[in-house]
Amino acid sequence: MSNHQNNSVFEKINGDNHEQIVFCNDSTLGLKAIIGIHSTVLGPAIGGTRMWDYVTDEKGLQDVLNLSKAMSYKSSLAGLNSGGGKAVIIGNTKIKSEKLVKRFANFINDLGGKYWTAQDVNMSTQDLIWIKEKTKYVVGLPKEHGGLGDSSSPTAFGVYMGIKSAVKHISGSDSLTDKKVLVQGVGNVGRKLVNHLLDENAKVTVCDINTNNIELLSGKNITVVSPEEIYDSNYNVISPCALGGTVNINSLEKINCEIIAGAANNQLEDDELVPDILQKKNILYIPDFLINAGGIISVYHEQINDIDYKKVMDMTELIYDKVNSVLKHSEDNSLTTNASAIRLAKDRIKENSKK
Ligand code: NAD
Repeated sequence: MSNHQNNSVFEKINGDNHEQIVFCNDSTLGLKAIIGIHSTVLGPAIGGTRMWDYVTDEKGLQDVLNLSKAMSYKSSLAGLNSGGGKAVIIGNTKIKSEKLVKRFANFINDLGGKYWTAQDVNMSTQDLIWIKEKTKYVVGLPKEHGGLGDSSSPTAFGVYMGIKSAVKHISGSDSLTDKKVLVQGVGNVGRKLVNHLLDENAKVTVCDINTNNIELLSGKNITVVSPEEIYDSNYNVISPCALGGTVNINSLEKINCEIIAGAANNQLEDDELVPDILQKKNILYIPDFLINAGGIISVYHEQINDIDYKKVMDMTELIYDKVNSVLKHSEDNSLTTNASAIRLAKDRIKENSKK
């Protein structure tokens, strides 16, 4: 009789064939962290560390599994020689201290460069600087610490390129003049995206739960909507730039648009039902991990020690063509755009695993 349990940790890891999961524990400091390495076939796994007060440890594990897999796809599609990884520190940010962050950095260092970290939700630039004191395997550092600085500019530029490519696919022209675009979340990325859109005379509507971030756009020619009325109008493009999961069965009952293309990671609530609903509603979905790669392109250049901002932006501009390739693949193979992007990302990883 087999002693194997269903739903075991290994079953979860096997689902998407993760290479290695590292559980980091220091009870004195209250540190509980998980480093997820999905793939190192194309190169070292790169991806940020997120701190979050998960309801259960299992939710933290699931998040790190999803996020690290998405990083593999993102790097692969962007044409980078880097793999996919991500880390989560489980707990309320109140427990975060210099000691805890540095202890976590030691765990990263133990991996000898298999995983390189960067900034993600609830981790600050100061945290990265502390990490740097304990390990060299950290990217996304400020310029004065040898990095390329805030990656939200390349990320916003990549999303802008992706939107233009998608608009061209539908209308034959990539001009955004008079296109109605909703930017959901005007934080670091969303605000920069708004500026690109306004430069092209798009009709921009924004929504954010943080009024301070909306105020940073005061004086600009934009319309502001509340979260309650966000989907009351029709748009050419909706650009989710807040948190993940906003494209779901409930929101899709209200959403009226031609294109969804934004920066937020893991926008789709699930990978099966939601892409089908999008297709049925004739909404062109541009996968997040395809168009929000500007940030990884930037930190990858730090990882290979090529501190050249122009190269980062030139490579980010290629997202325009990559969107076009994914849309063509999706049409040629009768797949959803999400499935096509995943297929193309996996193909490149598979091709390299034979070498
Ligand atoms: P940010 O924290 O600066 O901005 C997020 C904004 O979304 C904030 O203004 C917040 O108030 C707002 N928001 C949160 N919930 C909302 C809601 N329900 N409705 C409307 N607004 C809401 O983050 P950012 O750096 O601008 O990143 C935006 C998204 O893009 C995130 O999902 C991030 O993971 C992803 N992303 C960022 C980068 C990068 O380089 N910064 C790279 C890749 C992906």
